[in-house]
Amino acid sequence: MLYIDFHTHHIPAGRDVVAVVDGRDTWGIHPWRAAEAFVVPDLSTVFAIGECGLDGVRGPSMDVQERVFLEQVRLGEQTGKPLVIHCVKALDRLLSLHKALKPQQPWMFHGFRGKPQQLRSLLDSGFYVSFGFLHNEESLRICPADRLLLETDDDSEHPIAELYNNVARERGIDVSTLCDEMAENYRAFFRREPLERGEKVKN
Ligand SMILES: [Zn+2]
Repeated sequence: MLYIDFHTHHIPAGRDVVAVVDGRDTWGIHPWRAAEAFVVPDLSTVFAIGECGLDGVRGPSMDVQERVFLEQVRLGEQTGKPLVIHCVKALDRLLSLHKALKPQQPWMFHGFRGKPQQLRSLLDSGFYVSFGFLHNEESLRICPADRLLLETDDDSEHPIAELYNNVARERGIDVSTLCDEMAENYRAFFRREPLERGEKVKN
């Protein structure tokens, strides 16, 4: 079985894990660091922009965060790469930006812990929604399979297989079915095959 981790800050140990590692496979300016100077590197080696976004609780002013976020939306559109988004207490702003900008690239709301109502507004706007160990169970249950992503983010203690077991149980499906769904979503979101860099993964 192949477990895909759609957003993490740790390089996984197991060979049955394909992880999208922040800073290795993606490049972006986290909203907490939006006031710091940055230089956009060569983006040819990354396959997504992020994590980037808006945080109404931590970080510099919303104006500063939004300016830096918009710059990254532009980079994503320019380079044809999807966005990994961190959004805390700024959902309405994020949705209205998405509506105004009409990006061609898919956007992922990472670490979603919201209620079904917030989930629905994200789905209606076309977002992919990524869930971790901490989540609203009803939201996880009702999220359509083709928009659901799974992640460990900064949790390096619990293996991703544990998350897949929990999620499969809560959604009432087999883990292998869940793995197949995640592989499909990986292809749709990143438009690449879920293979670790240069490695051959056996199923
Ligand atoms: Zn993260």
